[in-house]
Amino acid sequence: MKPAPFEYVAASSAADAVEKLRRYGDEAKVLAGGQSLIPMLALRLARPSVLVDINGCTDLDGLTESGSTLTVGALVRQRGLERWARTRSPLFAEALGWVAHAPIRNRGTVVGSLVHADPASELPALLLCLDGALSARRKGGERVIPADKVYLAPLTTSLESDELATAARFTLPPDGAGWGFAEVARRHGDFALVGCAAVLALDGSGAVSHARLAFFGVGGTPVRSAPGEAALTGQQPTPARLAEAAKAAAAALSPDGDLHASAGYRKTVAGTLAERVLTAALGRCRRAG
Ligand SMILES: Cc1cc2nc3c(=O)[nH]c(=O)nc-3n(C[C@H](O)[C@H](O)[C@H](O)COP(=O)(O)OP(=O)(O)OC[C@H]3O[C@@H](n4cnc5c(N)ncnc54)[C@H](O)[C@@H]3O)c2cc1C
Repeated sequence: MKPAPFEYVAASSAADAVEKLRRYGDEAKVLAGGQSLIPMLALRLARPSVLVDINGCTDLDGLTESGSTLTVGALVRQRGLERWARTRSPLFAEALGWVAHAPIRNRGTVVGSLVHADPASELPALLLCLDGALSARRKGGERVIPADKVYLAPLTTSLESDELATAARFTLPPDGAGWGFAEVARRHGDFALVGCAAVLALDGSGAVSHARLAFFGVGGTPVRSAPGEAALTGQQPTPARLAEAAKAAAAALSPDGDLHASAGYRKTVAGTLAERVLTAALGRCRRAG
């Protein structure tokens, strides 16, 4: 199929894009890397009458690390984050290796993936796991949306139609923290059937001082696991404790079944992956002090 007719407008700066979004409102969609939007147009799953292309907005480019905060501008390609991650964040490097294929990551933006909000995507789960946030700008104001307020339903965020996501922020794990990431997909590069990411840090006594556990592919939105984290925080991370936390985390999930996997399969795999990523994260931890 071919897309329904639309008008194309190119924005020259973030301010210009925001002005265009104000002018066209619900009729408009932002075009970033186009790796999700263009297929949606071609399948007529999206029928905006205007595309606001932000690829010329150089003020939206740039990846900066300041203290523990990583800020990724709306024009940063997934490949750009992957290159940075090779030396700075093995968790991002591992996760991005699972996102589609290199040519798609060359065009697809990090923020585009976060805003597209596919519940089986890797990066939205990392936004939750790394206490992230989206910066959103509209005519006359800017706000920061914490990760736990971003995702409402499949392909639906709390971003308003006249808001431009200008950047994503991630909080890098504390010193000495360990990480784990795992996913099951039919083929490498496919969207996940189920995936899981974890970050753990230990205090001087070896107890868990920081626990983050997030799932994707297990429902309408990515899920940060409060029960899984609560089962670990302040506890000695014995293998039995990790298994118990993984079990509690999986029990709280309500995945959907579909053509690719049943709900029961997803729940079982989520528990198995959670135990694996927690075990991997613990193995990478250094004790504080
Ligand atoms: C074959 C194939 C396989 C894929 N496999 C995976 C996979 O395994 N995992 C995965 O996570 N992704 C996968 N993707 C999707 C890919 O990661 C996309 O690049 C990404 O989801 C969207 O980024 P984009 O920059 O291309 O956004 P676009 O396609 O340009 O936009 C996507 C949506 O976000 C909106 N948007 C984009 N940027 C902004 C902004 N700054 N402000 C407001 N709204 C904005 C658009 O209006 C649109 O609704 C795959 C894509 C393809 C084609």
